[in-house]
Amino acid sequence: MPLVSMKGILQRAKEEQYAVGHYNLNSLQWAIPILQAAEEERAPVILASSDRLVDRLGGFRTIAAVIRELVREMSITVPVVLHLDHAQSVDRCKRAMEAGYTSVMIDGSKYPIDENIAMTREVTEYARAYGVSVEAEVGIVGGSEDGMEGSIRYADPGECLRMVKEAQIDALAAALGSVHGPYRGEPRLNFERMKEISERTDVPLVLHGGSGLPDDQIQRAIRLGHAKINVNTECAQAWTDAVRDFLTDENNARVYEPQVILKPAHEAIKRTVKEKIRLFGTGNRC
Ligand SMILES: [Zn+2]
Repeated sequence: MPLVSMKGILQRAKEEQYAVGHYNLNSLQWAIPILQAAEEERAPVILASSDRLVDRLGGFRTIAAVIRELVREMSITVPVVLHLDHAQSVDRCKRAMEAGYTSVMIDGSKYPIDENIAMTREVTEYARAYGVSVEAEVGIVGGSEDGMEGSIRYADPGECLRMVKEAQIDALAAALGSVHGPYRGEPRLNFERMKEISERTDVPLVLHGGSGLPDDQIQRAIRLGHAKINVNTECAQAWTDAVRDFLTDENNARVYEPQVILKPAHEAIKRTVKEKIRLFGTGNRC
């Protein structure tokens, strides 16, 4: 199956009240266990590269070619989206689309709302010709990830509505108290405002910083219009724990083959993704 945009799969997810998982690639090999998990669970899936890691992963064209060919070689039949996460500029979004990405997130959250909307609109206009879906951020998701740092700024419902209407986006990351990386203290999502934004904008919402939120808060966010949930930290922690456990086990003191060392790490990613698919209600949807 060719790569698809996230427009259709998110609209359906919002209508049927489940969420599609977005999983960040910290290495291209990670795509294999993530795709295996999605295929076995019959779940649509979003593979994402953070803009800040694109060059280290080999560049836009390499990433797009590898994912496109993997989907073919692995005979993947569930819908797969290749998404650019937190693009730093309009130009980076255009380059991703030209390389074969099927979805982009333009992150103008650090700019004043007028500027954020203007740059997002430039991306959506360009995306139309490619059939690529566009996500935008209003407010600021806090925490730190891949070199991004920020403190939480809750999204303003009026600004969210303007973004949806004026920039014609397919998905909205409205910052509502979630953070990138591990949570320090109790997560506090603003559910009142979430409800208001979801009702007023009627666009699928995206939850950034899905790792470490209690299951009941995730499920409540899905009921209140979140159709995409981003998972990065939990896969990274599962991978690192598996590598650390393997290397600190003295029975493995003489093992040197990378593929042997990484096998439990890839199994840990697959397990984590399957848990998320079940939690988000994405299984058996295709
Ligand atoms: Zn994010």
